[in-house]
Amino acid sequence: MPYRHRRELLPARCFPYSPPPNKLASSHSQLRTVEQGEIVVELNEQVTKFFVVVSGQLHALQVSNNQEHLVAICNPGMFSGELTVLSGRRGLLRIRAAKVSELIEIEREALQALVETDSELSDIFLRAFILRRLELIAREVGDIVLIGSSHLLDTLRIKEFLTRNYQPYSYIDLERDAEVQEMLDRFSLSIDDLPVLICRGTAVLRNPTNEEITGCLGFNEGIDQAHVRDLVIVGAGPAGLAAAVYAASEGLDVLVLESNAPGGQAGASSKIENYLGFPTGISGHELAGRAYAQAQKFGAQMLIAKDAKGLACARRPYAVLIGDGQHVPARTVVIASGAQYRRLQLENLSKFEGAGVYYGATHLEAQLCGGEDVIVVGGGNSSGQAAVFLAQTTRRVYVLVRSDGLAATMSRYLIRRIEETPNIELHTNTEVVALDGNEHLERVTWRNNQTGQTESHHIAHLFSMTGAVPNSAWLSGCVTCDQAGFIKTGLDLTTEDLAKARWPLKRSPYLLETSMPGVFAVGDIRGGNLKRVASAVGEGSIAVSFVHQVLAE
Ligand SMILES: Cc1cc2nc3c(=O)[nH]c(=O)nc-3n(C[C@H](O)[C@H](O)[C@H](O)COP(=O)(O)OP(=O)(O)OC[C@H]3O[C@@H](n4cnc5c(N)ncnc54)[C@H](O)[C@@H]3O)c2cc1C
Repeated sequence: MPYRHRRELLPARCFPYSPPPNKLASSHSQLRTVEQGEIVVELNEQVTKFFVVVSGQLHALQVSNNQEHLVAICNPGMFSGELTVLSGRRGLLRIRAAKVSELIEIEREALQALVETDSELSDIFLRAFILRRLELIAREVGDIVLIGSSHLLDTLRIKEFLTRNYQPYSYIDLERDAEVQEMLDRFSLSIDDLPVLICRGTAVLRNPTNEEITGCLGFNEGIDQAHVRDLVIVGAGPAGLAAAVYAASEGLDVLVLESNAPGGQAGASSKIENYLGFPTGISGHELAGRAYAQAQKFGAQMLIAKDAKGLACARRPYAVLIGDGQHVPARTVVIASGAQYRRLQLENLSKFEGAGVYYGATHLEAQLCGGEDVIVVGGGNSSGQAAVFLAQTTRRVYVLVRSDGLAATMSRYLIRRIEETPNIELHTNTEVVALDGNEHLERVTWRNNQTGQTESHHIAHLFSMTGAVPNSAWLSGCVTCDQAGFIKTGLDLTTEDLAKARWPLKRSPYLLETSMPGVFAVGDIRGGNLKRVASAVGEGSIAVSFVHQVLAE
């Protein structure tokens, strides 16, 4: 089979397998000889194993239009695999023996055993798997092609969904790429069908939902949803991911349900600078990616694009309803469904959401407004961060806040950055009163509430980062919430609350436990939360120690 040579993805010295091969001896590994040309991992099939090359050579190949393109070479002393080994999802590449080769074949399950028993090997494999996935993303290797337009609201949604799920893809833009017509013709599509996702080279999805994309890419395949889990976690933001890492590492059978992609609100942050251990900051996306890999490394499973739609809390084990009448049974539940920004009270807001109005400021949104004027609404840390980030690539950033300053709501370091960035203009006592435009936002009007003066500007990008609304509607009264809908836990639950909720036990609720025994609430969904990554992570991990106590009761 012919193939074109690309540069070696991973030079041999990058990730050598230096420990002696006998370290890998286990019931899940075996020495195997393969013939030249033999396929050991097939593209789009669930990855159940990876290989250390003892002699011979493996080639990692991208396959498109039935042509193989060489992506990486594994020489003796190197090993195959990337993040799909951890997740068990479908392979992004074909692995073929380029010569007669002797390989140590290691099953996925063995990796988990290795992680628990051998930190040296665990580090070598995990580091390589994560870096290889990043390389595949950077090089757009894979067989997912998105054809869209920056003027179409759903193009941004799909890009965000793929990016936040660490899925490599190629993007072809209607306005910029000459290839568009050729691609459309090849799949008998018209411009009205955009955005279109071509999945695995053949399936054509016209403006697919996130759930449809998940189905096509097989993200949730092989995850048993029927057996009773020790712990089901709802939400894969920092709080849910922390709970997953701690619970899985302590031997619990954990399933995480995530309605969108791992990372939560933190995933929408360009740079988190106040999280312990990252002196130069870390993007929310990167932090979430590491945490996700870490949770998988310990065996936690995650259903992507799966909303929890209800909690059956009348009897135990509890069950989390996930749609189509499906229930995921759970001995204990951690609710980590977080919060989202309050939407501006503007009549035509929904028309511009994704078409000029955004709720996150990552490089994806920044690409859309380079060199232009933008508005950031809100006075919290997330707004400050967004303003400083966007000021690097836009002409001017207007920060609009309703209060008379930032001191009460924003960290000092961000206020100073704003003051010292010449192209950021702060407007206090100000609120947006009108949005105008045809298909995309074109004009924004704001009012100074002290002077009553209004100003209208040709601005096509507004980043809305105000307040927080809890994602608790799905619980429909199962647990006691405060007036704003945040979940009450531990000592915040009064005697009356517990009586009303018919708390059945002699003991009081544990810290972070809701009015339902064994159901915990952590992070931004919890009443009195601190709206910080660190506190969400802390609460997620603390809750797990009480999960153990409940399971032992
Ligand atoms: C742009 C931005 C920048 C920020 N910067 C900082 C910073 O620099 N430092 C800092 O400390 N904090 C920062 N924060 C705050 C921090 O990100 C949050 O406090 C933190 O993410 C809260 O974590 P969480 O896991 O509790 O909730 P979230 O992050 O809100 O995650 C909740 C998750 O649950 C999922 N979910 C919701 N409903 C359901 C459902 N029914 N079923 C399944 N899944 C569901 C959501 O999709 C989401 O992934 C920032 C926030 C934003 C938005």
